[in-house]
Amino acid sequence: MEHEMRAEYEEGVTSDAGAPVKVWHMVRREGIKALCGRMLEPSAVTQSADTWGTPEGEPFCFLCGAIYLREVP
Ligand SMILES: [Zn+2]
Repeated sequence: MEHEMRAEYEEGVTSDAGAPVKVWHMVRREGIKALCGRMLEPSAVTQSADTWGTPEGEPFCFLCGAIYLREVP
């Protein structure tokens, strides 16, 4: 299954490009629902799942990380 990372922002912050990311979540391709169950903005920034585990992917949702590990062979 294909995944990508999608940003969550602080409450009240619009998902403009360049807005500070509160935490990264993992979603299934093109999705807006994180693996942990949180609904994310369709306009939120995304990045490749390959970024997971690198500094650019921090901070990352702990729960999404745990579920992602189980979904990826
Ligand atoms: Zn999450």
